[in-house]
Amino acid sequence: MDGLMMDVPLSIPLLLRRTEALFGHKPLVTRRADRSLQRCTYGECLRRARGLAAGLASLGVTPGDRVGTFCWNHSRHLEAYYGVPASGAVLHTLNIRLHADELAYIITHAGDAAIIVDKVLWPAFAPVRERLGNIPIIVISDDGDLPPGTIDYEQVVAATAPSDSLADIDEGAGALMCYTSGTTGRSKGVLYSHRSMVLHALTLSLPDCLNLRESDVVLAVVPMFHVNAWGLPFACAMLGSAQVLPGPCLDAASLVELFESERVTVTAGVPTIWHGVLKYLDEHPGHDLSSLRAMVVGGAAIPESTIRAFDTRHGLHIVHAWGMTETSPIGTISRVPSELASAPPDYQYAWRATQGRPAPMVEIRARSEQGLVAWDGMTMGELEVRGPWVAAAYYPGDVAMDRWTDDGWFRTGDIVTIAPSGCVTIQDRAKDLVKSGGEWISTVALESALVGHPWVSEVAVVAVPHPQWGERPLAVIVPVAGCQPTIEELRTFLAPRFAKWWLPDAVVLVDHLPKTGTGKLKKHEVRAMFKEQFAQEQRP
Ligand code: ADP
Repeated sequence: MDGLMMDVPLSIPLLLRRTEALFGHKPLVTRRADRSLQRCTYGECLRRARGLAAGLASLGVTPGDRVGTFCWNHSRHLEAYYGVPASGAVLHTLNIRLHADELAYIITHAGDAAIIVDKVLWPAFAPVRERLGNIPIIVISDDGDLPPGTIDYEQVVAATAPSDSLADIDEGAGALMCYTSGTTGRSKGVLYSHRSMVLHALTLSLPDCLNLRESDVVLAVVPMFHVNAWGLPFACAMLGSAQVLPGPCLDAASLVELFESERVTVTAGVPTIWHGVLKYLDEHPGHDLSSLRAMVVGGAAIPESTIRAFDTRHGLHIVHAWGMTETSPIGTISRVPSELASAPPDYQYAWRATQGRPAPMVEIRARSEQGLVAWDGMTMGELEVRGPWVAAAYYPGDVAMDRWTDDGWFRTGDIVTIAPSGCVTIQDRAKDLVKSGGEWISTVALESALVGHPWVSEVAVVAVPHPQWGERPLAVIVPVAGCQPTIEELRTFLAPRFAKWWLPDAVVLVDHLPKTGTGKLKKHEVRAMFKEQFAQEQRP
């Protein structure tokens, strides 16, 4: 027997009609490239978003077409976030930090029908454009001065009378698209549907997830080209939360200034950002960040020492979450459960440093070569996930069998343990693990611990070849200025927490570590840097 409920499509227009009806007055604040603040409202933003949709249609963009964006976080990027999916087209956010060849590949593979580009990013986009065919390039420019052959964004927004309403769209239709950032080989396209984005926004907002509400002022440091700014633009629009958009000014001083002046309540970014903010706050005390109730961190593991330092030194609360481009991104989130509310602080910090438990509607399991592993907190296996906002294939429909199981679960490539509580701890990316004497060593666990050493600023632990053990861990460290940590000191520091055979055999001090466009360590590059050197040293 069928249920007797309305079949209302779960589409982005359904969220945005609420925003327009109830929250038209709520503010959106953008930091421009020249550092000035630009203020507008959801009402203005959505009016212009409808103008953009109409303008794109007059340029020949039809439902299902992909529209690329090559932009920082600002309110006009939000117009595209809302206007493009609401028109039936697919918003394809492009990672501004990728190499021109990779971008040209992604744009061509996605078949983008038009691209919206920030004028301040033109130097990075110009070499990409040379590699593209003749597609409309629409430029957002503050001074009205445009690169030759491009179209003025303001004219597109104003050219055609926008429709009055935001009409429903089939919930299964594609809404947004994002390519993986290529830390695991060639970028692959993930195509989010209207339905998946709506369900993701709802879940993200829940108290045990990001705990968002109308009264929040949300600042996504995470770029709008990194997995849909983790879904925040849609959750905020649905709830009517104010948004602060930092533009290109992502240094710690600029962020702290915005947190303070705009009374930001929730912010989100990768660990690299928060390590910078922590250092800045330690060196510049006296900021009033009392409005800030949650700093969400994901994209890479945040060490327990950082969570503790924010809490104890600055009264700031880190919320740790795990996700991927393929999971929209929210997969798991680390909230201390009620039964641990009065547990000792050390226990709570340890819990918060794990990746936490699956969000509602996300199912997890882990598999080793022997089959599915027990949830015993000890046995490692590859994490597999399933849920309504988890990719079922890569664009345009590629079900690579090394990424999906026969029964349709997505294989994350992350090696985890799952505790009896359901709490997930990422031990490593499958390819980053050190396999020593046939046993796995988690480089993430070693890195998280080493970053707690007062002389260590940044660290990557990588596998280097070893004649007896196959591989051994090497610590590659950017030291705090003026410090020279030795391998003996570091091993002594780690010894109380790890089995002896886990401890790195050697340390190399470097000036900096290579990072991806989304601020993650490029472990494969670090590994390549030292692999040959160590292999040579070990030759007889
Ligand atoms: P890419 O896969 O190209 O690096 P993603 O942004 O999709 O781009 O990265 C997803 C990966 O990032 C995960 O598979 C995992 O390895 C890592 N990751 C994300 N969040 C966390 C976290 N909280 N702790 C540890 N690793 C994380």
